Amino acid sequence: MTYEAVIGLEVHAQMLTDSKMFCGCSTRFGSEPNTQTCQICIGMPGVLPAINKKAIEFTIKTGLAMNCTISSYSRFARKNYFYPDLPKGYQISQYELPLCEHGYVDIIIGGIEKRIGLTRIHLEEDAGKNIHEGAGNHSFVDLNRAGVPLMEIVSEPDIRTPSEASEYMKKLRTILRYLGVCDGNMEEGSLRCDANVSIRPVGSGELGVKVEMKNINSFRFVEKALEYEIKRQIRTLEESGTIVQETRLWDPSTGTTQSMRSKEEAHDYRYFPEPDLVPVMPDKKWIDEIKAFLPELPDKKRARFNSEYALPEYDADLLTSEKTTADWFEQAVKAGAHPKTVSNWMMGELMRLINEENKSIEECPLKPHQLAEMIKLITKGIISGKIAKTVFDEMYKTGKDAEAIVKEKGLTQISDTGSLEKTVDEIISKHPGEVNRFKAGDEKLLGFFVGQVMKATKGKANPQLANELLKKRLVS
Ligand code: ADP
Ligand code: ZN
Ligand code: MG
Repeated sequence: MTYEAVIGLEVHAQMLTDSKMFCGCSTRFGSEPNTQTCQICIGMPGVLPAINKKAIEFTIKTGLAMNCTISSYSRFARKNYFYPDLPKGYQISQYELPLCEHGYVDIIIGGIEKRIGLTRIHLEEDAGKNIHEGAGNHSFVDLNRAGVPLMEIVSEPDIRTPSEASEYMKKLRTILRYLGVCDGNMEEGSLRCDANVSIRPVGSGELGVKVEMKNINSFRFVEKALEYEIKRQIRTLEESGTIVQETRLWDPSTGTTQSMRSKEEAHDYRYFPEPDLVPVMPDKKWIDEIKAFLPELPDKKRARFNSEYALPEYDADLLTSEKTTADWFEQAVKAGAHPKTVSNWMMGELMRLINEENKSIEECPLKPHQLAEMIKLITKGIISGKIAKTVFDEMYKTGKDAEAIVKEKGLTQISDTGSLEKTVDEIISKHPGEVNRFKAGDEKLLGFFVGQVMKATKGKANPQLANELLKKRLVS
């Protein structure tokens, strides 16, 4: 029997609002515990929450970017459960009337586009954080995160493989970052994912019993956790066992999942409409306004990079994965450099250097117009492509312009015949053996001679000219 996996993800995205979902407390990450709290977010009795309009706007923005219908009437609901990091004893969430529904995002998998449906995007507040380290036999509770606005993006069970799941996650992250509604930082927990998975015989139209996995905080772990879980489920069925509906915890240190609670132990959240908040009824005018200010989204930008700049799919995909990278590219092209050449330098040297230093492209000391000027020096024949690598490194290190570096270091390409002829003659007289072999027909040796000329001139010789001069001398 061959099985296929059926996967649906529930992704939580912390929103980049300055203040919390229902109070004015700051959402800043990394502050001293319990310094960003008030009566509302620590759940004192008798206080009233008020809705953060920015959080509604961000969710509508996301819903529109992900092709959802924006509900004209949506409502908050109380999700009741007891846990130390949840001071009110309930989380304000949305249940039967979410803000966004019926959307989709497209991913590319093995060169083919695949559409993943979105069931809904709803709004909720985050819980606090339990801290066990350094607390001895006790636990600490930090409520700075309690009440921070979250979006929950729920997919349809349209995903079939672990790699589709991580591609989908990456796509969500890219869109959220383009929109500026979430920083997508998975290590800090601003983007988290619960993965639901079941298996079924290939060809079956029915859904199997699903298992939900919690605690997944990287793209690699999404894949690893799903791979493990799919294998575990297949093994269970093949050993004539049954799969039980349960919640399992992914443990990255062992690469396995452990049962947390079964269906019988599942919480009954006793959802009911939040009586302290008015319904959310965004009018058409507001939605249209938000729509009008949406940035060009990754899919569109990728297609445009492909057609407008004649970039290969691969380049277009990589350069548009972050809006800041795409902007950097376009600025360099605007400054007059050839698009594919800019792309090559960016995907090669630039990415290598900024990755080495763990920098983002905004922090790159080298500016787009500087790369463009350097490329122009190559086009004009003032520096060779090889020397350009040295110039590039130096520009990156010092922030100086290419022209200044070339002057300072005397890196101008040797393109005048007179001075290069001298070097060519010297090389030829130093290697009589190779000359004879060349003359006897071993033409591959031309490369050897060009190499010697480049070495003697420390890479400054114009390679084409060196080639020509060598050929002239060697065949005469
Ligand atoms: P729950 O009531 O447990 O929250 P939902 O129906 O709301 O379950 O679905 C939660 C997530 O699980 C969604 O992303 C959905 O696509 C996915 N899902 C639902 N049923 C299955 C299934 N049988 N196999 C895999 N994923 C599923
Ligand atoms: Zn507060
Ligand atoms: Mg559900």
